[in-house]
Amino acid sequence: MDCTKDRITEYIEQHLKATRLKHTYSVAEEAVKLAKQYGEDPQKAELAALCHDMVRNEAPETLDAYVREFGLPERLAGNVNLSHGKVAAELLKRDYGVTDEDIINAVSFHTTGRAGMSKLEKIIFLADAIELGRDYPSVEKLRKTAYTDLDRACMDSLAGSVEFVRSKGESLDPDTVDALNYLKEKQNL
Ligand code: FE
Ligand code: FE
Repeated sequence: MDCTKDRITEYIEQHLKATRLKHTYSVAEEAVKLAKQYGEDPQKAELAALCHDMVRNEAPETLDAYVREFGLPERLAGNVNLSHGKVAAELLKRDYGVTDEDIINAVSFHTTGRAGMSKLEKIIFLADAIELGRDYPSVEKLRKTAYTDLDRACMDSLAGSVEFVRSKGESLDPDTVDALNYLKEKQNL
């Protein structure tokens, strides 16, 4: 896994803009801390975090070309926000020999979450939302909840994204709605 980590690090150092690279390392740091807090494998968390935005700075046409090359759903084309995690997950499998399904899913669903998300998926989703560079009104509260109640923190973060996306009049990914309903049900809310 160390050699995979080195190759991924080389890739992101070459492909990501400075701010995105800083965000990525900050997500990795946060993900390792959360993994330790919740008994998840810190190395898996670190690797998933390093990969999660690896193609985020590629041109939209490049991402669309990957969407078609990998046979991903057509609705992802033209939507870099939704496609970048799915494309990264495919690259991990094809070019980096990553076979751990949990790492692949954590990368694939980092933007949306999904019903039945695993502990690692929740950790990456949250680390992305609360890393130290993030600055939005509810982030401080979310940072605290993240270290006391993983499900609750994911739920709060998802609820915030749903509200944000709706306020912009954009359409919500069904996985986000499913993830939110799943966590609500899990907590009997
Ligand atoms: Fe992302
Ligand atoms: Fe990110």
